[in-house]
Amino acid sequence: MDLNTIEAIIPVRDRAELAAAHTGAAGSAVLAGGTWLFSCEQPHLRTLVDLTSLGWEPWTASAAGLRIAATCPVAELTAVPARPGWAAHPLLRQCVRALLASFKVRAVATVGGNVCLALPAGAMTSLAVALDGTAELWGADGSTRHLPVAELVVGDGRTALRPGEVLRAVDLPERALRARTAFRRTSLHRLGRSASLVTARLDEDGAFTLAVTAAVARPVVLHRPLPPAPAHAAAQVDAAVQEGPGWFDDVHGDPDWRRAVTLRAVAEVVEELGGAS
Ligand SMILES: Cc1cc2nc3c(=O)[nH]c(=O)nc-3n(C[C@H](O)[C@H](O)[C@H](O)COP(=O)(O)OP(=O)(O)OC[C@H]3O[C@@H](n4cnc5c(N)ncnc54)[C@H](O)[C@@H]3O)c2cc1C
Repeated sequence: MDLNTIEAIIPVRDRAELAAAHTGAAGSAVLAGGTWLFSCEQPHLRTLVDLTSLGWEPWTASAAGLRIAATCPVAELTAVPARPGWAAHPLLRQCVRALLASFKVRAVATVGGNVCLALPAGAMTSLAVALDGTAELWGADGSTRHLPVAELVVGDGRTALRPGEVLRAVDLPERALRARTAFRRTSLHRLGRSASLVTARLDEDGAFTLAVTAAVARPVVLHRPLPPAPAHAAAQVDAAVQEGPGWFDDVHGDPDWRRAVTLRAVAEVVEELGGAS
């Protein structure tokens, strides 16, 4: 839709131009794919600072893992080739498909926009927390800090971003990419938005990670030295959600239903990865 309050769209080419244009002042926001920004009124905004002109490489694979630029289009992740030993590679495609949108939207929507929008159904948040993703954040004052994506998304539409701060990239460590993973997504309708998304990861050293998104306002992640028993894992997730954000409630699913499908999925993914019964 047309955003009639916007007076300027500022393309930036490097960090200095970004810092000068995006200071965190009221009325300014960064623009990535624009699939959300242009989908609803933004009466508080006057200026958009366009990140796509920065020309960041969408992704780079190295011995350290996979670095995904914030401006990487979501669909681009399906083009990342599997490197030897990357048992977790299918999770890239599974999470891309979890973004319930047409190929046209997936081709434009960015990984950074999805994470920073911080919707519970943020499929790129799901991917990042499943694989211990770390966010590289650029401050308006030239500083850089790093934060687990699991701590960057703090609530429904809320992040730990400071005023003027921009997500530069998400780094997925090689260790997590070499892990075996399991994935379960549930929605009310066959083509509905994710109401529950559960991932499990079994690292080569036996360490086990469970992550729940979509059913909760912010990610709930459990790390264990060994895979737990399925029933035990479900009870632990339930306790962590009750003590934490609670089961999410919106038009995509009631909390009781979300709890039921999530805990069933937790038991399934643990069993799939060989959790002791
Ligand atoms: C048809 C349709 C279906 C959708 N389905 C889903 C879905 O299933 N799950 C879901 O989570 N969302 C969904 N969305 C919402 C949204 O489009 C996506 O989350 C998308 O990934 C947003 O990315 P974008 O690059 O278009 O972000 P933009 O619209 O450009 O920006 C979104 C927000 O993030 C901020 N932002 C963007 N990049 C950065 C950055 N690098 N650093 C700091 N802030 C930044 C912007 O200022 C803005 O506030 C859907 C949208 C549409 C139109």
